[in-house]
Amino acid sequence: MTDDKNVLIRVRGLKTWYPVKKGVFKHTVGYVKAVDDVDLDVYRGEILGVVGESGCGKTTLGKSILQLIRPYAGNVFYDFPEGEKDLMTMKKKDLDEARRRMQIVFQDPYSSLNPSFTIFGSMQEPLIRFGMKNKEERKKKIAELLQAVNLPEDYMERYPNEFSGGQRQRIGIARALSVSPEFIVCDEAVSALDVSIQAQVLQLLMKLKEEYKLTYMFITHDLSVVEYISDRIIVMYLGHIVEIADTQELFANTLHPYTEALISAIPVADINQRRKRIPLQGDVPSPVNPPSGCPFHPRCPKCQDVCKTKKPEPVTLMKNGRPHTVCCHLVKTEERKEKKE
Ligand code: SF4
Repeated sequence: MTDDKNVLIRVRGLKTWYPVKKGVFKHTVGYVKAVDDVDLDVYRGEILGVVGESGCGKTTLGKSILQLIRPYAGNVFYDFPEGEKDLMTMKKKDLDEARRRMQIVFQDPYSSLNPSFTIFGSMQEPLIRFGMKNKEERKKKIAELLQAVNLPEDYMERYPNEFSGGQRQRIGIARALSVSPEFIVCDEAVSALDVSIQAQVLQLLMKLKEEYKLTYMFITHDLSVVEYISDRIIVMYLGHIVEIADTQELFANTLHPYTEALISAIPVADINQRRKRIPLQGDVPSPVNPPSGCPFHPRCPKCQDVCKTKKPEPVTLMKNGRPHTVCCHLVKTEERKEKKE
């Protein structure tokens, strides 16, 4: 899957910074660096999990790739049938086709459904926008989409307040599917649901991925969900990617102390399987004034002197022919050699 030809989205040097303005003349005195210098590839057909605490930049990363937020700098190359194009240099009207190919499912589908519209009213909007003028055709399409997410087609005549959270999330997924996307960002898509409903929606997403040949970016703070659903995982901290690996490899051979702490906090039912919890001190620091050196150093239980002044560069180790990338001074040269063997 990690063949270069299979790359759907290539992100390079992505920075989503917001200016901090002060004074009467509103001079820019600094930037909130919500996403800072991110490089990543999204492969066709994969489920790429993105994890981290609140405020680490994962939602901003998803929205920046979709161009729902226009990033400050960097490139987002999308593989169109006619070849790769940079979404960052496209004009607004040219982005329309890219937006059809890339959709988002939000945590709270209620906020994205107009309460005064029936489900048909809300779901037909994207269809009209992308050229389906005939009302009967739209009805047929919406009936098919509701069936695809295991809801009866007559639900299209009802209003959002008549549904449970799980049903509304299914409608949100059906709406995202309506314009035949290739790539869907699921932003905390199951976080607000009860555990039993979460499992149903996750299974539905996996079924739809096969049926519609989709690629997902699955953003969540819940590592147990991401472990269950993802092929690969990105761990973010303070706008940076600190570790990327295949899911199994990340859990079996965790390299970054932040990832270790997140994994140690996953609740485990079997008392014999419980991991020793690694407590994290304090909160994620402000992205306006990030710490020097390694951004994680003020909270890192393994911090060394070098970490306070020198930012660790990403290092890619090969494990069974597969890359595992980490940003930490603790990953020493000897270890890199050992892991390559
Ligand atoms: Fe911790 Fe240093 Fe590694 Fe940063 S570079 S995660 S502070 S050990």
